[in-house]
Amino acid sequence: MTAALHGLGVSRGLAIGRAYVLARDELAVTEYKVNAAGVETEIDRFKVSLEAARDHLRQIQYQIPTNTPADIRAFIDTHLLMLDDPALAQVPIDIIRIRRCNAEWAVKLQRDALVNVFEQIEDPYLRGRSDDVSYVVNQILRMLMRERGDAPDLSTDGLKGAIVVADDLSPADTVMLQHQGVSGFVTEFGGTTSHTAILAKSLGIPAVVGIHGARRLIAKDEMLVVDGRYGVVLAAPDETIIKFYQQRRHSEAAHAQSLDTLRGQPSISRDKKKVELFANAELAEEILSIRRVGAEGIGLYRTELLFLNREKPPSEEEQFVAYREVVEALNGLPVTIRTLDVGADKSTPWNPAGTLNPALGLRGIRWCLREPDVFRAQLRAILRASHYGQVRMMLPMVCAVSEVKQTRLLIDEARAELEREGHPLSPHVPLGGMIEVPAAALIAEQLAAHLDFLSIGTNDLIQYTVAADRMDDAVNYLYDPLHPAVLRLISMAIHAGQRAGIPVAMCGEMAGDSRFTRLLLGMGLREFSMHPALLLEIKRLITISDIDDLISRVKPVLTFANTSAVLKLVEDLNREN
Ligand code: PEP
Ligand code: MG
Repeated sequence: MTAALHGLGVSRGLAIGRAYVLARDELAVTEYKVNAAGVETEIDRFKVSLEAARDHLRQIQYQIPTNTPADIRAFIDTHLLMLDDPALAQVPIDIIRIRRCNAEWAVKLQRDALVNVFEQIEDPYLRGRSDDVSYVVNQILRMLMRERGDAPDLSTDGLKGAIVVADDLSPADTVMLQHQGVSGFVTEFGGTTSHTAILAKSLGIPAVVGIHGARRLIAKDEMLVVDGRYGVVLAAPDETIIKFYQQRRHSEAAHAQSLDTLRGQPSISRDKKKVELFANAELAEEILSIRRVGAEGIGLYRTELLFLNREKPPSEEEQFVAYREVVEALNGLPVTIRTLDVGADKSTPWNPAGTLNPALGLRGIRWCLREPDVFRAQLRAILRASHYGQVRMMLPMVCAVSEVKQTRLLIDEARAELEREGHPLSPHVPLGGMIEVPAAALIAEQLAAHLDFLSIGTNDLIQYTVAADRMDDAVNYLYDPLHPAVLRLISMAIHAGQRAGIPVAMCGEMAGDSRFTRLLLGMGLREFSMHPALLLEIKRLITISDIDDLISRVKPVLTFANTSAVLKLVEDLNREN
């Protein structure tokens, strides 16, 4: 009987294939004693395995696609460095000599000791590094056990076309499995921003993460359908289901091909109204796909990735180099650089999220104004990058006019300093504010008087409007873009911008969801910023929509009392495609 398992679809596409259930913790190790001669043999075995683990990681380094985020590549560099550390390269040899035991047991003892040390550390970031230690030590163990035929061999041909079911996957495993021709990933852990998710997207492999107990529920070699768009995995589907998904796969491929013809076309509605489509980005590596889909620029460049996973914030120079690279790559198209939005879900080792209520605590612009040294370095780096193209600056989590005024003062100071130092700068860097808390939407008109543009961040705006944490599954049912309160706040922001004569964009996930495009066009939105993979579908919808007609049909939406009435209107708007 077919079973449907629900998780988080993190990499779109459909995969149909047999399950390859990866039992990572199967590396069961036992101790046995050896004699004096055996000690040397075990030490040799250990050394050979250490070298094999090194070779293996180096090979993977070569196989990583060029569009893979740099921080993921850095993980593999770190793993290679760990293999050179005496704690891994020497201590197991000492253990073999002292205990007169097999190499596997010595490696396991040292792994347990190291993991134990990491787990005692208070700093959550460093504590999390114990996963890296386990991963690297398991690489050596795998090599030792494979030599004796005890470990699963991930480099076999049996993986071609298979769907890998695992607890979680390291970046190295993900790349290697792709190289073996796997067609999909299902994992028990991980979220939309987990490394498996990011890599699977870069590699173009459908993936669903967060299916707890997947390895228990899915049998080895069982047929699976993975729907990476909706986050569904079907186990043991019957012939009719398989046929249905094969057809869907076929029509999705045909649809993607037809969208290709829109790449160079302007996004103009049927009644000749221009709508601007921008891309969201976090890494220089994404620029290629942004240019490929013909985005009109970057509407949201998130800078947090430069700051996460490190012991202290990056220097002004490091930031300048990173921003300049993106600005130059965009070749004169606008790049909207958002200033640092740490705090809440984006905690860092040097700024762990507060325990009281991080989403309502010091984050975004609040945090930056409290840490003027970090903020100043970023403002200077952005201003310096402005010389190399068209740069706009955007502030996250604004909720008061005073925050904008304070930031303007800091920007003016930074500009004067840089000019004194002789740096070339663009004479005008527009300053925008994100509308992502209800307070900002309610005073959008007052904010607009001090800003050059607004951008609606629906990811946060929704969570703060309905008071439902965007990361909390339990209240996910409340997290609804179509809640009438959310729509009213969006409408307020759009109209405040229109009245002030400044552009209003939307850069939250809602902007890239084609179900809402017509509703938003009817509400007056003319700038959308989204993941580049979604842009052509949104453009298609715009080209076949009549905006004047949408405006009159959408008008009543602000009087609706509940989501179901909004939903009905949205379904009507979407009927003719
Ligand atoms: C948003 O809140 O909609 C947004 C774009 O910002 P982030 O998702 O980075 O919080
Ligand atoms: Mg946000």
